[in-house]
Amino acid sequence: MAAQPDVMDKLVSLCKRRGFIFQSSEIYGGTGSVWDYGPLGVELKRNIKDRWWNAMVRSRDDIEGLDAAILMHPRTWEASGHVAGFVDPLVDCKTCKGRFRADKLEDARCPQKPSKQPGQHDACQLTEARNFNLMFKTSMGALEESASVVYLRPETAQGIFVNFLNVQQSMRQKVPFGIAQIGKAFRNEITPGNFIFRTREFEQMEMQFFVAPGTDMEWFEQWKQLRMEWHLGLGLSPERLKFHQHGEGELAHYARAAFDVTFDFGGTLGFQEIEGVHNRGDFDLTQHQMFSNKKLEYFDQLNNKRFVPYVIETSVGADRVTLAALVNAYREEAVEGEEEGRVVLGLHPAIAPIKAAIFPLTKKDGQPEMAKAIMNDLRMAFPLDYDESGSIGKRYRRQDEVGTPFCITVDGQSTADQTVTVRDRDTLAQDRVDVSQLKAYLAGKLVG
Ligand code: ATP
Repeated sequence: MAAQPDVMDKLVSLCKRRGFIFQSSEIYGGTGSVWDYGPLGVELKRNIKDRWWNAMVRSRDDIEGLDAAILMHPRTWEASGHVAGFVDPLVDCKTCKGRFRADKLEDARCPQKPSKQPGQHDACQLTEARNFNLMFKTSMGALEESASVVYLRPETAQGIFVNFLNVQQSMRQKVPFGIAQIGKAFRNEITPGNFIFRTREFEQMEMQFFVAPGTDMEWFEQWKQLRMEWHLGLGLSPERLKFHQHGEGELAHYARAAFDVTFDFGGTLGFQEIEGVHNRGDFDLTQHQMFSNKKLEYFDQLNNKRFVPYVIETSVGADRVTLAALVNAYREEAVEGEEEGRVVLGLHPAIAPIKAAIFPLTKKDGQPEMAKAIMNDLRMAFPLDYDESGSIGKRYRRQDEVGTPFCITVDGQSTADQTVTVRDRDTLAQDRVDVSQLKAYLAGKLVG
């Protein structure tokens, strides 16, 4: 199978030029590996998050939503194992002052030229590896002396574990059931990079499914399959997706079994994790019981017994999936009769930031007025873009490049018979549609 091309540099440039993603605080030279989502990026990421929320929460009776705070009681992170164990091995280079992850040296580049792996230049002086905790620390309270140390959460999961009984009891849920949330997480990564692949501030979409011990492997298998189907439903190509099973040595201390959903980002990055599906056993609830002195047991009325549920976790990065969707969608195509060709973001219509663009063919004969009237009629139903500048070919190219699935053109015939053309981004086929049918036509094409 041919390797997927490396489109990262082209994407970074497209994302900036077309308002998807900007470097954070760019006018000050940028903040290391933190990114801002522009007008089109925020729509794209929101569509992905909405799809996840719909699949995990809205369409199921057995999963409840939650939005827990970023700042949590510091004991949370002792119980979870993060204070002691959320570390990466770090090496410094005394010559170039670079810092690298000791376990990922093969992926890192030494700042000295020519570009080589750290340690491979004669001048490199790497220190012994030491552990570096990835949690961001800050203090809570007005007086610094008496303020307590708090952490910016490095994962959203712990907010779910500590609310397990609150949610179960308030919503009268019975095991098996799950809790899902979307929220920011922060990790002081030693070697962030590859655009929004690994950043220091990111968003996670996590779901913890609480099950009776003994039924855990069955649920684990089910969630593994469901999550893969979700990624396929997002339009990610089947040949770019595969599972990676964590072997004995790779399993986290809490995990009984773990699979990653990996996606082929192309080039040298290749297949990388986008989601983790983990069987965490009763590790988390047991730890929180111990550290909080509060029982976190479930009472099974049917069998009249109490137990600490096991947890199947699905944990996916909203930014990483956004990047996967962009990489998956990017393509360059020749156009018949044109020298330049076109760049297309073949995004699944459901996640495309703009669903349709509306053009008057010319700026006269009542065409702009009619186009604007159509725009006003449809804008509450779909995110739209109106464009009347430049040749129609240029306007098509602009929309192709940001992934707009449909372009609606008002032409000379439109004002006479109340029909417009609708051009399909991928097939380039044009349908003539009655204006009164336009909303239903687009809605039909945008489902799924
Ligand atoms: P990695 O090995 O890539 O650092 P991880 O195994 O530590 O990831 P988890 O803790 O399982 O990742 O986090 C679950 C998901 O959160 C990942 O699959 C990824 O999509 C996302 N994620 C984790 N760290 C980052 C980050 N620094 N930037 C963006 N997304 C991240």
